[in-house]
Amino acid sequence: MADSTALIHANSPSGRAAGLLNPPIHRASTIVYDRVEDYLDRHKHLYDGVIYGLYGTETNHTLASSLAELEHGHMSVLTSSGTAAISISLSAFLRSGDHLLVIDTAYRSTRRFCDDVLARYGVEVTYFSPRIGAEIAALIRPNTRMVFLETPGSLTFELADVSAITMVTRARGIVTALDNTWATPLLFRPIDHGVDISIAAATKYLSGHSDVMLGAMTGANETVYRQLKDAAARWGSSASPDDCYLVQRGLRTLDVRLDRHQRTALELATWFEEQPEVRKVLHPAIASHPDHAIWRRDFTGASGLFGVLLDPMTDAERSAFFNGLRLFKLGSSWGGFESLMVPAWPAPARSCTDPVEGALIRVHAGLEATVDLLRDLEDAFGRLRACRADQAPVRLGLART
Ligand SMILES: *Cc1c(COP(=O)(O)O)cnc(C)c1O
Repeated sequence: MADSTALIHANSPSGRAAGLLNPPIHRASTIVYDRVEDYLDRHKHLYDGVIYGLYGTETNHTLASSLAELEHGHMSVLTSSGTAAISISLSAFLRSGDHLLVIDTAYRSTRRFCDDVLARYGVEVTYFSPRIGAEIAALIRPNTRMVFLETPGSLTFELADVSAITMVTRARGIVTALDNTWATPLLFRPIDHGVDISIAAATKYLSGHSDVMLGAMTGANETVYRQLKDAAARWGSSASPDDCYLVQRGLRTLDVRLDRHQRTALELATWFEEQPEVRKVLHPAIASHPDHAIWRRDFTGASGLFGVLLDPMTDAERSAFFNGLRLFKLGSSWGGFESLMVPAWPAPARSCTDPVEGALIRVHAGLEATVDLLRDLEDAFGRLRACRADQAPVRLGLART
């Protein structure tokens, strides 16, 4: 069955909820028992039952099993945010004295957790180039316990050769986690490529409506799943059943939304490439992308987020470009129905990749009509050009930049 069909028909409610199309919301903290034997045995059901609100109700389990099926994994664990899913995945497997390898292009908060928290707990962290491939073998030490990947890279969109990396890690018993928020399991399946933990910020495309915070970590097998579930319990991370319901509902339309995000993003990316001020479009599905061959091999599509590298901008040029946008909004996060555009500075969150030369902007193509978005962009470039003409003396070095 195609994923799109499975997403529509998965998890039809049964029992007294039969006939409803979406699973009901079960809210609970306390779960009560009639028999003392059942109460004393309750922790046997931590991994697949409902024993306490913190560990999730039937609503959470429904979403977790939907996601696990999409991911081709054993089972998912839901957390209060994508950031929590990352921190908990790392702390589930690492201990003091371990060595951790992290892709240099990881999301900023991932690096912060590694540098600020794990380093304080005695974990050594080494960052590596997103294009390292099988050469990651040279960085592995006897105490290397985990490798953390994110592909495409945050802000700069490099693709890692995941299978080449997991060939090395699997042979050595090293646990690999991958932040797959950009592609979602519909467009890339980390577990099929040898990854042990697939992580998603469900806050983004899975929810799709910019009003939910939720994270998911999916274990490739039962052992990994149980370790993730235990770690989430130890850290006290809980996912609200209401938010799980919203994400389960979001999954119904994930395939059609991604299809539209992809199409619009490619149309915008092609248009950006033609503008004289644009140096490079950072989008893995575009033939000029240096990792395009990996994208064709591993991904079944692209989502709506990409980068555009422009000639350097003065502060006044940046203001002229962004202030006055009508449809594109300035805002963190992405994956919702609305288009977003923000300036980005990857350099402070890199230690071994070359800095990008120029003014980087990150674009999220929402679900608006491309023709309207292009009009907004044409006007922005018009304002940029007018400002540039006014600022000619600045560019010649005759005034402060
Ligand atoms: C947004 C994001 C996260 C964090 O998710 P939150 O739910 O906002 O905490 C993690 N990884 C990536 C790639 C993201 O884009």
